[in-house]
Amino acid sequence: MKESKNFLQTIVEKDLQSGKSKEIVTRFPPEPNGFPHIGHAKSIFINFGIARDYNGHCNLRMDDTNPTKEDTKYVEALKDAVTWLGYEWEGNVRFTSDYFAQIHKYAMQLIKMGKAYVDSVDEEEMRELRGTVTEAGKRSKYASRTVEENLDMFERMRKGEFQDGEHVLRAKIDMSAANMKMRDPLMYRIRHAEHFRTGNEWCIYPMYDFAHCLSDYIEGVSHSICTLEFENNRDIYNWVLDTLELEPPRPYQHEFARLGINYTVMSKRKLLELVEGKYVNGWDDPRLPTIAGLRRKGYTPESIVTFCDQVGIAKANSMVDVAQLEFTIRADLNPKVPRVMCVIDPLKITIENYEGSEELNASYYPDDVPKEGSRKLPFSREIYIERDDFEENPPKGYFRLTPEQPVRLKHGYIIACKEIIKDSDGKVIEIKAEYYPTSKSGSDTSGIKVKSAIHWVSADEAKKVEVRLYDRLYSSEMPEGIEDLNPNSLQVIKDALIEPAVVQERPDERFQFERQGYFFADPIDYTDEKPVYNKIVGLKDSWGKKTKPTPPKPEAKEKKVQIDGEVVPMTSEQEKLFTRYKEGLKLNGEVANTLARDEDLSAFFEEALAVLNSPTNLANIITNEVAREMKQHTKEELKFTPQQIAELIKMVDDTTISNKIAKQVFEEMVNSGANPEEIVESKGLVQISDPEIIGKIIDEVMEKNPDNVEKFKAGNKKLLGFFVGQVLKATDGKANPKIVNQLLAQKLQ
Ligand code: ATP
Ligand code: MG
Repeated sequence: MKESKNFLQTIVEKDLQSGKSKEIVTRFPPEPNGFPHIGHAKSIFINFGIARDYNGHCNLRMDDTNPTKEDTKYVEALKDAVTWLGYEWEGNVRFTSDYFAQIHKYAMQLIKMGKAYVDSVDEEEMRELRGTVTEAGKRSKYASRTVEENLDMFERMRKGEFQDGEHVLRAKIDMSAANMKMRDPLMYRIRHAEHFRTGNEWCIYPMYDFAHCLSDYIEGVSHSICTLEFENNRDIYNWVLDTLELEPPRPYQHEFARLGINYTVMSKRKLLELVEGKYVNGWDDPRLPTIAGLRRKGYTPESIVTFCDQVGIAKANSMVDVAQLEFTIRADLNPKVPRVMCVIDPLKITIENYEGSEELNASYYPDDVPKEGSRKLPFSREIYIERDDFEENPPKGYFRLTPEQPVRLKHGYIIACKEIIKDSDGKVIEIKAEYYPTSKSGSDTSGIKVKSAIHWVSADEAKKVEVRLYDRLYSSEMPEGIEDLNPNSLQVIKDALIEPAVVQERPDERFQFERQGYFFADPIDYTDEKPVYNKIVGLKDSWGKKTKPTPPKPEAKEKKVQIDGEVVPMTSEQEKLFTRYKEGLKLNGEVANTLARDEDLSAFFEEALAVLNSPTNLANIITNEVAREMKQHTKEELKFTPQQIAELIKMVDDTTISNKIAKQVFEEMVNSGANPEEIVESKGLVQISDPEIIGKIIDEVMEKNPDNVEKFKAGNKKLLGFFVGQVLKATDGKANPKIVNQLLAQKLQ
């Protein structure tokens, strides 16, 4: 457990201390309508983790109130996922459907109390009567049915006398409640469908809002932990339990932020679409973020639990970089798994001065790892190396084999290239090499210096294996749909070559293939005849800076985002702000919306605005750059103030610096906490607006590009962009673009 407590642990401890809870009982309540994904892993980690930390217990409950989408195969997948992650549920797996009779009784009780009624308006009318955020709703005329009528109608609904959608049971709460969810929410609906457990016993099914709180109560749950999109449902949760005046103790709901990861999708509906549309090979396709997929890819349960721990538990939604997940599995496997050699794209090497064969001794683990074990590596005259470990015309800084540069064969000898053999297309097909007999690894007396060691396999003894290389499923960071799928997410290499010990001894299931990454023997397709390995992850992050793992920020303040396309209504406070920003300050609607909905952002904006009356420019930087920083850091961690942002924008407004430079200055402010003016001054970032200086640069650019000047003058006006770009480049982006444009227009006439 981490040293610092997360907010849920704080709540649990307080409840134990005050006696509000005698025992900690949690539950993981998935709907069995798809395979669980890594978001569910987080929920599992939290619910089972809290129960474990406080000596309580956690139930596994299938929330099976929607007969049309649920299936036992999903129940099995959910059980597998929990077990595989290392958790045990209390007693049997529970099902909300086990409580249907009890929940039905509670519904009758509410009717008898005059707190629920059968409504018979159609969907459209119901929507109209519900009102809007700013307007109260109205009750339908059916709300005045007497208790007897309601009991009778509800009984007839249960008996199957009506069609789907004809009637519903609603709680009688408050049609003018500010929380729209409280405007007489639905509690039961008619569904003539066979349920995978209760068959045709029921044709009315309780809604989530009614079933969930009661199931929690029936199971004696103390803390009902769910994701943020249920925040507004909490009022119903409490209303149902309080109104029924249930014997204590009763459960309480607490919300945490749902996990989102970039370059993937995380909703069972979208995952189902990928599986059913055959965009992937089943629910356990290693490219999917499902537990089954990650497991098949080779992720360990420990790495996933560690990841869930490190991303932390926050109260606002966030997007986690997939690089962080990859970082965790690397860190987990690095000290654990054997290191072996597999050549994925083979290039033949014939070592002309080597005769016979030998077996080299090679440890499976590097020296700094406490594990021991070794294997024999056959070595002979003919070997294979990786094609890109040889370069005929190497770029600067290339450390591997070239015509001039020898290289070490890992665990073996140093070799040098003697001759390159090419096919008729000029493709290198073989290298003739020589080896240095005194250069054997571990007893090298040759004195030859090499810059790197490469992996290789002996041609005769190597085994052919299939290697499946996985890349991100989507090429877009925030995929919208199928069109964003990465066409190269799977590459199957049928004839990679691996050293024999790996398949003969099978010292492990997971390996580091030297210099390639971590690989896992595919648990389904692997056979002795055709070994198959899945790439788990590369050795280092190949997606570069963009995906640098962000250090975990457990309680970081995150910007709230919309979930599942549901638009959370604005509070009246937010609406006021929105009107002020959009109408009063003339900000664009999107920007006004972002500011109005985020208390911290709007407060920041107001403070900056008090210093500098430049609403549009301030709002832009605050909803973009500042928002990004606020999303990743707590207020205390931020090194800049609203006043400084105003100073920065002031320099943009008076053309001291350009917008582009402003962004650069902002990054510097974030890092060093220095004043914007200081940064601009010390780095010489002041914008160049002097027409004389700019004019000279334009002359130089025109001199260097006479052809383009000709073309421009001949009518190719599109080249203006080219010239502007050249001038900006020559000034490191410091030339005032307005003046550049004006002068260019003059000079190019
Ligand atoms: P999805 O939207 O992916 O279909 P869901 O919320 O409908 O998921 P459920 O089966 O209802 O899925 O979820 C079971 C539990 O897992 C719920 O408590 C839910 O809040 C939680 N959960 C689902 N997705 C995530 C996520 N991305 N991060 C954290 N918890 C999640
Ligand atoms: Mg859902």
